[in-house]
Amino acid sequence: MRLLTFTHRQQRQLGILDEDGRINVASWPNALEDVLERGTLPSRSAQYLDPAEVRWEAPLRPRKIIAIGQNYVEHIRELGSELPEKPVIFAKFPSGAVGHGEEVCWEAALTQKVDWEVELAVVIGARCHHIREEDALECVFGYTVANDLTARDIQRSEGQWIRGKNLAGFCPLGPVVVTRDEIPDPHALRLSTQVNGETMQAGHSGEMHFRIPHLIAYCARMFTLEPGDVILTGTPSGVGMGMKPPRFLGDGDVVRVAIEGIGALETRCRVQ
Ligand code: MG
Repeated sequence: MRLLTFTHRQQRQLGILDEDGRINVASWPNALEDVLERGTLPSRSAQYLDPAEVRWEAPLRPRKIIAIGQNYVEHIRELGSELPEKPVIFAKFPSGAVGHGEEVCWEAALTQKVDWEVELAVVIGARCHHIREEDALECVFGYTVANDLTARDIQRSEGQWIRGKNLAGFCPLGPVVVTRDEIPDPHALRLSTQVNGETMQAGHSGEMHFRIPHLIAYCARMFTLEPGDVILTGTPSGVGMGMKPPRFLGDGDVVRVAIEGIGALETRCRVQ
């Protein structure tokens, strides 16, 4: 099932994206958070909408967002870093989650170096604290696409990544959450980024240094994972900072991050 959250006539609703591209409006519930909390898939209704009629929201309001840095070997090389011995973890604020087609705006006086990072995002569907790696995928509800937007100049200016990773709107998510049953192998997916139609990243989720079951088990040793938590699993090579010369996002740019089997998530950039 491919689930989305949208606003139509000022109402936030849950929908099911059908194969023909139409949105079936769920008769129950109104929000993906309720699906995750109750562990019951939504019910269909007789009402359909055209995707062009709605405003796409982030498919869920994440409870927490745990992000993994430096998790693709070629990306680690382009940064000139060593392979980490354990996952590099940081946090993104749930309030930064925005949907497909959203405009993200930042101040030129604050950052000149905003970069893209396509990432496979894991949506947790079950509460877990301590879970064996071999059981870890059982707590996954589904998968979505994330753009881990990053202000490189801020990130590099201080030890904490909190500011550089968390400007308003810096976590586009979507366009849909695809339930786990439709993605039998999350390490067999192509990922890509295009800026104004030009390909910047072209990677494969099989290139992850630490794989998803390991990441979940590792996180659940320390944190309690809860339904609605989202884990961003790192980005492949091709970020702007790694290019020669480096390239960054500017006013009017459209960045499109896509993952095979899930969809394409577009963000419009506005610099003030
Ligand atoms: Mg990242």
